[in-house]
Amino acid sequence: MSDRVIIFDTTLRDGEQSPGCSMNTAEKLEVALALVELGVDVIEAGFPIASPGDFEAVQTIARQFGDRGPKICGLARCREEDIDRAGSALQDAQNKRIHVFLATSSIHRQYKLKMDKAEIVQKAVESVARAKAFCDDIEFSPEDAARTELDFLCEVVEKAIAAGATTVNIPDTVGYATPSQYFHVISHLKKNVSNIARAVISTHCHDDLGLAVANSLAGLEAGARQVECTLNGLGERAGNAALEEIVMALRTRQDHYNLTTGINTKKLCAASRLVSTITGMIVQRNKAIVGQNAFAHEAGIHQHGMLQERTTYEIMRPEDVGFTGSNLVLGKHSGRHAFRDRIVQLGYQLDERTFEKVFDDFIALCDKKKNVYDADIVALVENRSTEAPDRWKLATLHTSAGTGSIPTATIQLHEDGQPIVCDAAIGDGPVDAVFNALERITGISARLQNYQVRSLSVGKEAQGEVLVEIVHNNHVFHGKAASTDIIEASAQAYLKALNKAAANRHTQKPLHAQHE
Ligand SMILES: [Zn+2]
Repeated sequence: MSDRVIIFDTTLRDGEQSPGCSMNTAEKLEVALALVELGVDVIEAGFPIASPGDFEAVQTIARQFGDRGPKICGLARCREEDIDRAGSALQDAQNKRIHVFLATSSIHRQYKLKMDKAEIVQKAVESVARAKAFCDDIEFSPEDAARTELDFLCEVVEKAIAAGATTVNIPDTVGYATPSQYFHVISHLKKNVSNIARAVISTHCHDDLGLAVANSLAGLEAGARQVECTLNGLGERAGNAALEEIVMALRTRQDHYNLTTGINTKKLCAASRLVSTITGMIVQRNKAIVGQNAFAHEAGIHQHGMLQERTTYEIMRPEDVGFTGSNLVLGKHSGRHAFRDRIVQLGYQLDERTFEKVFDDFIALCDKKKNVYDADIVALVENRSTEAPDRWKLATLHTSAGTGSIPTATIQLHEDGQPIVCDAAIGDGPVDAVFNALERITGISARLQNYQVRSLSVGKEAQGEVLVEIVHNNHVFHGKAASTDIIEASAQAYLKALNKAAANRHTQKPLHAQHE
């Protein structure tokens, strides 16, 4: 039994399928690069038949990263056209895998597929064999495995391996399993599938009961050697098993699990931040490993203990996961060199042009606030590095508001190669007035679904970070921005979301209901 666990990341497929988390190809490439640097073993890059956009993303990732280490994987239902599409998207990758899935539980057989057991087995076998024509590495998933009769599950898995599947994934698609039950399912397969030694058993657990990570770890204890997971636990409904939690549980409790991964844990926080920025899904403060409070010790007795000896209350060192709290680091007199060092420590690699822009922003920020914290620097970098070629950019903003007056906003925008455009609007408050003015200028009307302001660091001069979520043409778009002026941050965030809506590169994905 190997002690090495294969980390199969599905942030770009399962994670991307969660509402409002759609990413365009450029964004997917950024995440793929972070996954390569993190050292994951398999990147599930998408579901090529779902839409032309998905196909393009898988193809582009396969071309750019298909010889850089991780295997690039494409998902397909057990249908000829799905498998061929996945095969063609992965054509240019050296390291590749096709992942085929078919539901096996009685409820799915009866209501969704309307197929009997024999038909399911036949379809699975045919599909694995068809995929095998494109590459050697084939993963088979009996969807809703955790609710499938064990005898039948063994039969399907055995036939799929015989047909050439090299990984068999046992998804708890609906998040219904419990750790001991899931342990039992994996153990049962190990004992009762005659050819199980020819394939790697994989876990894929959803978090509907908050058990995704616990179930995945139970699966590993039972003999699974691949974990499917996502950064920040992104995924359908309550999400998937969080990569960072699985990896750090295995590492911190090596004494118990005796398993290792190939993950460079120092990159975990940076990868988590990148996914949060791109998807607009904020990581909760008390999230394990990557949350803002994950390493905060507030209680006096804990702080005292920590000062004497860190390990009294600390089971992991923040630096091991690349964690950066609200440490006071830089100010007006910190030079270019110190600033560059800090950016590298925070896990970013900026080209010279972007670095200069971020440094200018830093100097400007130092004029507004005395102390610049890590969180401020992260916001500055993200503001610049996620700068898509936006159609509109904010030129000037003026608002007036107060008790007994009508809140008003006047805005000027730069539009690609056009003269500056200007308009004004009123609203219920200054933020509402700003949003109305932006909609007047861009001609895009949207419904505001979520609006959040939070402080990035401490003190009255802290930058405010604004997150907006809008709905336009039945699509959800996110925007995030930070500034010491929350009205300006609101304008920038809303404009980012409107720019995404204008680009609307996200084609409809009619297959979103299909999922394992
Ligand atoms: Zn899933």
